[in-house]
Amino acid sequence: MTYSTGVDALNNVSLKINDGDFAFVVGSSGAGKSTMIKLLLKEIDATSGVVTVNGYNLNKLRKRKIPEFRRTLGFVFQDFRLIPSMTVYENIAFVLRVIDAPIKYIRKRVPYVISLVGLHSKTNSYPDELSGGEKQRVAIARALVNDPKLIIADEPTGNIDPELSYEIVELLKSINDQGTTILMVTHEHDLVRHFGGRIINITGGEIVFDEVMLGAGDDLISDQESIQYGYALEAASPDSEALQAASAIDSPAPQKPENSADALVDAILKDGEEQELLGAGETPDIPIDQMTPDEVIAAISGEKTSGGAE
Ligand code: ADP
Repeated sequence: MTYSTGVDALNNVSLKINDGDFAFVVGSSGAGKSTMIKLLLKEIDATSGVVTVNGYNLNKLRKRKIPEFRRTLGFVFQDFRLIPSMTVYENIAFVLRVIDAPIKYIRKRVPYVISLVGLHSKTNSYPDELSGGEKQRVAIARALVNDPKLIIADEPTGNIDPELSYEIVELLKSINDQGTTILMVTHEHDLVRHFGGRIINITGGEIVFDEVMLGAGDDLISDQESIQYGYALEAASPDSEALQAASAIDSPAPQKPENSADALVDAILKDGEEQELLGAGETPDIPIDQMTPDEVIAAISGEKTSGGAE
């Protein structure tokens, strides 16, 4: 990936994340981690090479197919990106509502994922009534509700107290145990040492380390040992066992029919301050914060809302 400024953000990257993997992506600031995530979400296009995710060849994916592709993924971000005017239940349920899931299914599935993340007692709470760790659990439940094959978590513990960070990774691990592939970008080396798993170190736009390591549990690890984990590899040679590039697979059958409500996914992908949910290409009359859940659903599914003024 070479940006228009000429910066080579990723070079010679050949990486395959297998179904069922739990992979940590580590690397210092400017190493190319966000660029990798943006490529995987098709927020940007690779300037050369091939990116294939969940069977979609992103180089060839047409713009109108991007929402369908993104529905095969779950996202978890550092800043949670919950909708403040919605309860925990509504924040999760509306992901299903916008893809026209049957009401009966929503009523079963939402409490189920809420209980999976241990938040049953907070079902009717609003985001600002929750701790950072709880908010992130809601975001994880929201990522899970559509039963994605892959969850991409970008610094999910970045805004959470260190002790609670372990719980969040444990939760992601237990989701992984059920078969969901997880790719987690993190700066927190202690977490990576503790849990182990597949560790991919990106340095200077290249993968310099990619191995499955045993977690250290609660044991302290010496500096010497931590070198194994790729943290001291700034000057090291590229990984000798770089994994084979994913071979292109034809697109699988879509999960759901085309739906203009995919503005939801875009809203979740965007930064907090940009977080206005747009209907099919139009600006809502009132900001998301001031909408009732029904108005949000209407707006993101492209229906006209009264807006209260007319
Ligand atoms: P990380 O997420 O590991 O901190 P990034 O992927 O954000 O790293 O950045 C990798 C390199 O690409 C850096 O040199 C950064 O300055 C550059 N870069 C990132 N985004 C852009 C952009 N939109 N335009 C130009 N250069 C960029």
